[in-house]
Amino acid sequence: MPSEFDLIARHFTRPPRDAARVPLGVGDDCALVAPAAGMQLAISSDMLVEGRHFFAQADPALLGHKCLAVNLSDLAAMGARPLGFTLALALPAADDDWLRAFAGGMLALADAHDCDLIGGDTTRGPLNICITIFGEVPTGQALRRDAARSGDDIWISGTLGDARLALAGYRREIELDAASLQRAGRRMHVPMPRVALGQALRGIAHAAIDISDGLVGDLGHILERSGVGACIDADALPAGPELAAHPSELRRPFALAGGDDYELCFTAPASARESVLAAAAECGTPVTRVGRIDAAPGLRLVDRNGAPLSLQLASFDHFASP
Ligand code: ADP
Ligand code: MG
Repeated sequence: MPSEFDLIARHFTRPPRDAARVPLGVGDDCALVAPAAGMQLAISSDMLVEGRHFFAQADPALLGHKCLAVNLSDLAAMGARPLGFTLALALPAADDDWLRAFAGGMLALADAHDCDLIGGDTTRGPLNICITIFGEVPTGQALRRDAARSGDDIWISGTLGDARLALAGYRREIELDAASLQRAGRRMHVPMPRVALGQALRGIAHAAIDISDGLVGDLGHILERSGVGACIDADALPAGPELAAHPSELRRPFALAGGDDYELCFTAPASARESVLAAAAECGTPVTRVGRIDAAPGLRLVDRNGAPLSLQLASFDHFASP
C-alpha cells in the first residue's frame, strides 16, 4: 500500500503556476502566498462529509470538482479572485484509482480558475474533505452581506432549482424521465461557480451571497446583516431548464428554497441596472432581476401580478419524506 507521502507526491503535488503569487506550494511545513499590493486576502473553508453532503458511492471526479466548486463559489460571492487552496482529506483507504479521479476532477477546475493546490493534510478515517480557499480582492471592494441598501434591486445569476429537482428525482419524491434526471443531476454534481461575475460586479453591486442553501435562506442572511427587508416576485425567478417544464406548484418552492444552486444573489442600486447587465454579458452569465430591497424588515413574496404569496411556499412541506 502506498504511503501517505507517495499519495501526496503522486496526486497532489504540482509546481505552482505563478511563483510570484505562490512562491512555495506543497512540500514544506507551510505554503507561502503573496497577494498583490493593495489586495486583501479572502479566506473560506467548506467541509464535505460522506452521507451528509454526498452519496457514499459518489463519482470521485465529480466529487473532486464539487468540493472545490463550493469553495470557489464563496470567493465569487465576495468578488474575490482565486489564488490557491489547501485540501484536508480523511480517507478510509489509500485507493489509487479513486484518488487519481478525485484529483483529476478537482485540479481541472483549479486550472480553469487559475488557482493552485498549495498544501493540505492527509489522514486515514471516514471520507471527509475540507478545502480552505484563498483569494484576493482590492482593499475595501469585497461584496459583503451587510451592504444591501433600501431601494436596491435584487438579482440572481443563472438559474435556480434544477439541483433540487434532481434530489427529488433521486428520492422519488417525483417521477422524472431518465434524461431529465441526468441533466438536472449535472446541476447537482457539477456546479459552476460564478467567479468571473463576482469580480465583474465589484464597484457595481452592493451586497452578494452565493446560494447554497436556497434563495430564501441565503437572501435572509443579507437582509439580517444589512438590517433591511425585501420583496421577491416568485414568478420572476429563473427556473432551471429542467424545472421550467414543471408546474408552478413545483417551480416556485424549488427555485425559492432548493439549495445546491451555487448561483449568486446580489443587490445593486436601480441606477446600476445597465452596468449590471453589461458586467453579466461580459462574463457570459445571464442575470435576472427578481425583486427589491426595502426598509421594512422581513421577506415578502408576490406573484407576477403583485399579489402576496405565503412564505410557506418556500418550505414545501408537501414534498417532505414520510
Ligand atoms: P506536516 O507533518 O507538516 O503536517 P505533512 O506530512 O502532513 O506535513 O504534509 C507534507 C506536505 O504535503 C505539506 O506541504 C502539506 O501541505 C502537503 N499535503 C499533505 N496532504 C495534502 C493534500 N491532501 N493535498 C495537498 N497537499 C498536501
Ligand atoms: Mg500533516
